[in-house]
Amino acid sequence: MKVLITREIPERIVEAAKARFDVTFRDEPCVGLTEEEAAVALRDYDAILLTLGDQFSARAFEMAGDIRCKVLANFGVGYNHIDAAAAAAAGVAVTNTPDVLTDATADIGMTLLLATARQAALGDRLVRGGGWKGWGPTQMMGTHVTGKTVGIIGMGRIGQAVAKRCHYGFDMPVIYYNRSAKDAGLPARQVESLATVMAQADFVVVTVPGGAETRHLIDAEALAAMKPEGIFINIARGDVVDEEALIAALAEKRIGAAGLDVYAQEPFVPEALRALDNAVLLPHLGSATLETREAMGQMALDNIIAHAEGRDLPQRVV
Ligand code: NAP
Repeated sequence: MKVLITREIPERIVEAAKARFDVTFRDEPCVGLTEEEAAVALRDYDAILLTLGDQFSARAFEMAGDIRCKVLANFGVGYNHIDAAAAAAAGVAVTNTPDVLTDATADIGMTLLLATARQAALGDRLVRGGGWKGWGPTQMMGTHVTGKTVGIIGMGRIGQAVAKRCHYGFDMPVIYYNRSAKDAGLPARQVESLATVMAQADFVVVTVPGGAETRHLIDAEALAAMKPEGIFINIARGDVVDEEALIAALAEKRIGAAGLDVYAQEPFVPEALRALDNAVLLPHLGSATLETREAMGQMALDNIIAHAEGRDLPQRVV
């Protein structure tokens, strides 16, 4: 089987893939396939191990014409860069990597929650810039975390892992907004409307999938419902939030702060957002630990192996 791996992945997975398949490695750490390149890949390979930023849009499937590829094994749980309907129509299975990245991503959520509350990034810049004049009782006072209410938007695997950390680690009451009821195995109150979670939570953490259904779920109106000192965290996908509305709310101090791991048009981050001291900005680090990235790579590869052996694909989503 001819397999394409679209990005640099951990060495252990490179070796495992080479041992098994005729593999082409794209020598590229960060930049994804364009629609044109995705179309060519669909035509030329039996399976593709791809990831965020590879543009497997409806147009890519259209341009591909005669498609050889039978499986798109996505390195990541979110697969909104693949047009699921177009893949299904073309008879291309799609798999993802749930669970193995849940803890690492929840940890990044907590990193952002604590860093925004306690102004960690600003403090780091103060020290590095040589501007720190010494300890003072009113210097850089942040927001207390313990006992504050966290509101989870999307109480799935990652949402529940954030809730667990907030409940057990920081005694935080947990409220959440989700279409179906979820049992997170801890005290958590489901709230009927998004606006109510936005209004009642001291910290809002967004963990819904991206894509057309959730695009701009967090809009100007949702942000306007937040407490003036409320802190907004997004570890899901950039397009879930109306980025311009968020920038305006932060710039006009209508909310306290934001901690972001994801952006509407990655890797572009608007200058207006980068200029704000009440925003902590990470470069999409959610699953970025070696252990997690190896587990993701192995899971993606295992799905391609299952296909090669004629078995059901364990993490099939399309
Ligand atoms: P998951 O288990 O499927 O959880 C998603 C949750 O969102 C589900 O509980 C779902 O429940 C809820 N949901 C979906 N649409 C909704 C809507 N319109 N309104 C309210 N709730 C909605 O997925 P996961 O593993 O936790 O991952 C979540 C997302 O995190 C991924 O899709 C990915 O985009 C993102 N992610 C980011 C990083 C990063 O590096 N920052 C890393 C991993 C994942 P219902 O359908 O019942 O409502």
